[in-house]
Formats: sequence, C-alpha cells, structure tokens
Amino acid sequence: MTEFVFPPPSPPSVAVAGSTARFPVRRIFCVGRNYAAHAREMGRDPDREPPFFFTKPADAVVDDGVTIPYPPLTENLHYEGELVVAIGEGGRDISVDNAAAHIWGYAIGNDLTRRDLQFAARELGRPWDWGKAFDNSAVCGPVHPVAQSGHYTKGRIATLVNGSIRQEADIADLIWSVAEVISILSTSVVLRPGDLIYTGTPAGVGPLVAGDLCEVEIEGLGRLTTRIGPAG
Ligand code: MN
Repeated sequence: MTEFVFPPPSPPSVAVAGSTARFPVRRIFCVGRNYAAHAREMGRDPDREPPFFFTKPADAVVDDGVTIPYPPLTENLHYEGELVVAIGEGGRDISVDNAAAHIWGYAIGNDLTRRDLQFAARELGRPWDWGKAFDNSAVCGPVHPVAQSGHYTKGRIATLVNGSIRQEADIADLIWSVAEVISILSTSVVLRPGDLIYTGTPAGVGPLVAGDLCEVEIEGLGRLTTRIGPAG
C-alpha cells in the first residue's frame, strides 16, 4: 500500500440524479465556441474552425445550489450555460458511431469565466487558464444516468439571471455534436471514466455580480441554480 506524506484528498465529485452515490470527477474538458452565434459574439468565424479544448481542475467542480464567492482578479465574471457529458467508459480514437457507448450520463453545467482575464490572455497569445480554470469555476448539476434517462441530442437550453432570460438555444444547434466532440477529444487524450466534458455555450454570455442568482435549464435535465456571493 502506498504511503503518503499527508492524507490524499478524496476525489472531487458531483451528485447523481435519484441516487445518494456520487459521480467521481477525474478531469474536466471544455469545448470552446460550439454554437455559431456565440462564436460570432466572441469575434470569431464559426464556420471553418475545428473544435478546440481547454481544461479546468477537477476540484473546480461545484454542486447545484451552492453560493460561490465572487472570484478574485476579475471585474467581469461571466456565466456560460452548457450541456455536460459524463464519461463512464474510457477509450482512445473513439469513432463517432461508438461515442454514445462511452457516456455515463448528462448534466447541466455553468462554465464560469473571468472574461477580462480570458480576453487579456487571448490578446497576448497566452494560455486561457487564469480566465477559465479558477476555484469554483465548474458548476455542475446532478448527472442523469443514460441507463435511466437516455441520450440528449436536442432540447431547449436557457440561462437566466435574476429570473430574466440571457441565453436561449437548442442542444441540436451544437456545431460539433456530443458524439463528434468525444471522438475528436479521444484522438488527443485517452478518455477515462469520470471525465466531464462541457460542450460549449450558446450566444448571450454576460456578467454576474455579487447577489445575482444564475439558473441554467436544459429540457429534461431540470435546472442548475447558483448564487454569487460577495468576494471571499
Ligand atoms: Mn464554455
């Protein structure tokens, strides 16, 4: 048995719908610009760009219903409502046709973003990490097991701030489908059980300030609720 110099932390995890057991999170991958209208609002041409990925630390994951302190170093925290795919069976070079068999379940996510830091990094040709991969930046609702709920290839996705709709689209509008994202990602890394994939956000991203209530809804998956607290 391995001896550690201090007790290792228990793995980050997210809730599972209808169960007390939790889904252990191994890694968090995110797709950039996967809805055409959002790519345009970010100043990019959505048409010919292959999907690209960034990551967040697994321990950035936050459950539904948690109040998140307004993060440091930013004056422009943004919500990004997204469909999240939870991988249950690993693999490399997964074909589009086989991708669904690797999915354990689906969840609603909020890819919280320090937009000012992301844009500054983009401007300077530096990594996005400080804009994307900060503490509490990966909000994730309960995972709905495929075994019970099936697959989500279409359905309304919406983000509300203090009750007003800011993003509204359909999962079917993804430029790169969930199966294509899994296939392409698995050519670059070996996917493992516990990996989460945030599949990209629709148009309408915008700021959150302390006191805001942010809700993301996906048809069939319910609602993910996050309150932004004071800095801390
Ligand atoms: Mn995103």
